[in-house]
Amino acid sequence: MTAQLIDGKAIAAQLKAELSEKISEKMTAGHRRPGLAVILVGADPASGIYVKNKRESCEQIGIQSFFYALPDNIEESELLKLITDLNQDTQVDGILIQLPLPHHIHASKILEHIDPRKDVDGFHPYNIGRLAQRRPLLRPCTPYGIMLLLNHIGQRFKGCHAVVVGASNIVGRPMSLELLIAGSTVTVCHRFTHDLPYFVRQADILVSAVGKPGLIHSEWIKPGATVIDVGITRLADGTITGDIEFAGAKERAAWITPVPGGVGPMTVAVLMRNTLVAAGYYDHHH
Ligand code: NAP
Repeated sequence: MTAQLIDGKAIAAQLKAELSEKISEKMTAGHRRPGLAVILVGADPASGIYVKNKRESCEQIGIQSFFYALPDNIEESELLKLITDLNQDTQVDGILIQLPLPHHIHASKILEHIDPRKDVDGFHPYNIGRLAQRRPLLRPCTPYGIMLLLNHIGQRFKGCHAVVVGASNIVGRPMSLELLIAGSTVTVCHRFTHDLPYFVRQADILVSAVGKPGLIHSEWIKPGATVIDVGITRLADGTITGDIEFAGAKERAAWITPVPGGVGPMTVAVLMRNTLVAAGYYDHHH
């Protein structure tokens, strides 16, 4: 069997087109343009690229972006003050802080200072708590983007064993909560998992979010599985690769995401969607 590719780039473009249309509709009806504040601390090149993509997407679909580029020696108190101001700014519906932050800043303290109603990354304990109680409001972008991809291909969830590799607060953990809500039986593997192949071999749905090329051997893939590769690693020759041995996995899976062009574009599209949710464009139980 050769897997069908899950074209995240195309699916994200479609979602962004829908969001753009929604904004036009709402503005015709007298709504204010939605606004997203994007905060970048320091000069990490990868973070710079992510922020640029996010701002360009805003522009493309009609969200106003407010950009704050801050030096990496900024005091934590100054950053907290900026967030306080943005929390109160009625032009700003969403606040995004590009991670990672410099070590002298406590990321969790900063993230918890964002008004949960403006937390478009979905990382605030309030929003994670809502997700854990299966009443999500603003949902972490990458896991929700993956759910949209899975829905797009008509993935069955109930009765399926979903295996998530990686347990970070921003990808692996919320991913496992999304799959649980959808009705799958979920296993989460991480650094201390003994016998990773044993679990991967059972996965009807496999999501790998670690950042280690070749971690998932293709012969572990269950024939007919749906395989989602979240990993992004830039190799010495400049190419980008995921966690899964793609060529071999493609011959066993039914569906597989490419890297790049799979999960990545969905993350940004969901960030845009979350900004519209925060702006009150959808009812909360949408
Ligand atoms: P992270 O915070 O470094 O988390 C990686 C997770 O993998 C941790 O839970 C870690 O365990 C676990 N892990 C490490 N080694 C492992 C092993 N040998 N076997 C099983 N699990 C292992 O990274 P992240 O932020 O979740 O991101 C993961 C990857 O996805 C990265 O490559 C990142 O660039 C990429 N990413 C992509 C997108 C996208 O839009 N496509 C978005 C976000 C992230 P411990 O908790 O024990 O350390």
